[in-house]
Amino acid sequence: MDETKDGTTHFGYREVPVDEKKKLVGQVFSSVARNYDLMNDLMSLGVHRVWKRYFVGTSGVKRGDRVLDLAGGTGDIAALLHERVGETGEVVLGDINAQMLGVGRDRLTDRGLVRGLRYVQLNAEALPFPDASFDLVTIAFGLRNVTDKARGLREMRRVLKTGGRALVLEFSQVKPEWFRPIYDFHSFQVLPRLGRLFAQDADSYQYLAESIRKHPPQEELQAMMAEAGFARCSHRNLSGGIVAIHSGYAV
Ligand code: SAM
Repeated sequence: MDETKDGTTHFGYREVPVDEKKKLVGQVFSSVARNYDLMNDLMSLGVHRVWKRYFVGTSGVKRGDRVLDLAGGTGDIAALLHERVGETGEVVLGDINAQMLGVGRDRLTDRGLVRGLRYVQLNAEALPFPDASFDLVTIAFGLRNVTDKARGLREMRRVLKTGGRALVLEFSQVKPEWFRPIYDFHSFQVLPRLGRLFAQDADSYQYLAESIRKHPPQEELQAMMAEAGFARCSHRNLSGGIVAIHSGYAV
């Protein structure tokens, strides 16, 4: 699927010029950065922490590994990865947005996590690393925001060492039919109101709900990973498909 054909792409439910999406996504995350962690807890009632811990738990990452967490934002995944690779390994937290990266760096530094962590402002579509640099590349709740997802996936494949693994944690398509109206109500009625109340920003949370619906569903994303050059591609639904973990290997 080419999401950027005809020079346009989607930003939530709006069709926008490709060049504009990056700017609009940038505005969303600059606006939410300060309240990002609080909002995650409120919106998911803390469940995002369970998803993230499980995600990193399935990574198979070992002490001494070199890992890249793309769209790493405020650092939840990087902190969990750091526990596993230890100070002899390295976690590179990459994000396009300076505000999100700044909150992440302050947060992890305040927790005493310094050695073995590096912060790089980057675009997931054009990674500033040589081929075959990492044992694991993760992206959690980030791929949805990348304009050219196929390009982002190819870049993830390129920077992985042979035998390395890519893991994507992302909102996906809810499977039980009966749950969909409840989930839609939460997404379109509750989230923007929480955003207005706690972050003085309803629009960013309306974008969140819309962007989830525009993201490729499980099977389509798995096919995109295979197309990007990953082997043994698979996915696993969590919480009935509210989120899914996609996995692929570099061989
Ligand atoms: N991974 C973190 C987490 O799970 O809490 C943050 C996820 S947050 C919803 C999405 C992040 O993706 C933001 O920090 C945003 O700046 C980043 N992002 C969006 N587009 C990006 C791109 N093209 N390259 C790198 N990061 C990007």
